[in-house]
Amino acid sequence: MSIAVTEWISGPVIRARPEGPFVMRESVRVGEKGLLGEVIRIKESEIVIQVYEDTTGIRPGTRIEGDGLPLSVRLGPGILGGTFDGLLRPIKDISVDGPWVQPGTFNVQPDKFYFIPKAAEGEELKAGAVVGQVKPKHGIMQQILVPPGMSGVVEELVAEGEYPDDEQLCVLTEENGNRYRITMTQVWPARQPRPAAARLPSNEPMLTGQRIIDCLFPVARGGKAAIPGGFGTGKTVLLETLAKWCNADVIVYVGCGERGNELAGLLEEFSQLEDPRTGRPLMERTVLIANTSNMPVAAREASIYTGVTVAEYFRDQGLDVALMADSTSRWAEALREVSGRLGELPGEGGYPAYLSSRLADFYERAAKVRTLSGETGSVTLMGAVSPPSGDFSEPVTSHTRRYIRSLWALDTHRAHARFYPAIHPLHSYSMDAEELSRWWHAEGCTRWQELRLRFLSLLDEQAHLERMARIIGKDAMPPRQRFILMCAELVNEGFLRQSAFSPIDRSASPARQAQMMRIIGNFIEQAEEAVSRGVLPESISALPLFRRLMRMSEEIPEGRWEVFAELADALHKALHDLMEADNQAQEV
Ligand code: ADP
Ligand code: MG
Repeated sequence: MSIAVTEWISGPVIRARPEGPFVMRESVRVGEKGLLGEVIRIKESEIVIQVYEDTTGIRPGTRIEGDGLPLSVRLGPGILGGTFDGLLRPIKDISVDGPWVQPGTFNVQPDKFYFIPKAAEGEELKAGAVVGQVKPKHGIMQQILVPPGMSGVVEELVAEGEYPDDEQLCVLTEENGNRYRITMTQVWPARQPRPAAARLPSNEPMLTGQRIIDCLFPVARGGKAAIPGGFGTGKTVLLETLAKWCNADVIVYVGCGERGNELAGLLEEFSQLEDPRTGRPLMERTVLIANTSNMPVAAREASIYTGVTVAEYFRDQGLDVALMADSTSRWAEALREVSGRLGELPGEGGYPAYLSSRLADFYERAAKVRTLSGETGSVTLMGAVSPPSGDFSEPVTSHTRRYIRSLWALDTHRAHARFYPAIHPLHSYSMDAEELSRWWHAEGCTRWQELRLRFLSLLDEQAHLERMARIIGKDAMPPRQRFILMCAELVNEGFLRQSAFSPIDRSASPARQAQMMRIIGNFIEQAEEAVSRGVLPESISALPLFRRLMRMSEEIPEGRWEVFAELADALHKALHDLMEADNQAQEV
């Protein structure tokens, strides 16, 4: 064990004189309390340490001990359903004032679980192979796998039963005599990606139940999305909505630098909210990683990597995981603060030059993979970005855009008009939409891509026409243009608008989304024909049925396909009647 002596301290950063060898990223203990830190720079006669806890009371002369290992987290069945700090140390209750973690503690306290062996003595197991399963009291069944880097023949294996999560369950022996002791938990370097057998193409969507996302700007399983938006535009509500309704097996929610009471509220809500899959609290398949604005800044920097490591741990068990980070801007501010203390040369916006590569390190870990045991698993990443004064050209937003594939840009005007989700259809995109259209087409929504492009072009035309309407007045515009404005209004109000708090509409199944898309698409087609034959757009929008179409998202619940069909038929007939009436008027 190497020792160093503190010489200089500024906030979370310590410079120390080493009295033995240290390695980069080594975890260290500072002072009597054993505060957790990490070596982030090594010079000839100096090491620089970033401390993950409050450094009040540390002074020159304070002793530092190296652990000889990289800064690590302890992964195991006990993390599902838990709340942790940025280094995966359990937090008892974030609704009370800190400190939430006893300074100097390492990771999860041991817990007991019921273990069911799935391997046999004498069997040869490779890294990633299933040793057994753990049946938690509640929540999903978890696999205990041979950790990466270990393999061998099963020499010993315990019988089915309850064991503490740090007790030896299995011993593997390699031909060369190496012996590996396997427990329910694995210690894994916090920042190091976990290996998989192969990356797979992301060819299915991660469904969110939100129409504007699933139908216009979808995200793939194993994809990555960013949600930039100014203050109060709905980033947190959107991420929480996604956590509640997306079809992932496990949710990792990283609350990064946001207000503590928001997270406490989230925790409370998740424990009360019923999981639509199991009927049990949603929290049971959620991991909450909290590093709120009043917690130590350096742990915030680590928290998003810890979050992805946890997500990969579940991915390796063949599960689909979604990670939400709120907000990556607060994470970047932590990076900037530590960099400033180190006296590094500031780049754009005061952020260090490595901001971009650190963002890449995070987003690159989104993937759909074949796991070491041959299963399929995925990690989908979604990060909120809160650019100061909503300026999307600032460094965090612009660098993030280089690494993500779906952008859900929240718009201040939409949010002010209380149009939720306030995702701006012209500023958002999805580079996976083309690929994912095959999934929708295979599901029977064969016009998905065509209708999607139609909706987008209507919204695009609307933007141009509205500018014109402001100059010449809407009444002076030709019927065809008034028709486009009417259709764009229908797409906005009847399809894209979706309240996170509506019992009927807060989440929509793909079948219901497809149904709505189809009704609106068919209606637009038929109405277009009517307008080309001389029916005025205003006669169409004055139809009481048109109002019903606009309100169908709030009025027709999941599964009521016959009501959708009645509405479609009635609309068809009403438009037909309008055309007939118009014909007769012309003949007279
Ligand atoms: P941000 O995190 O971007 O600062 P919030 O997510 O806290 O913003 O949203 C601010 C407020 O906007 C919420 O308290 C809520 O009243 C409203 N809001 C945001 N999104 C929605 C939504 N999808 N449905 C209904 N109301 C919303
Ligand atoms: Mg917020």
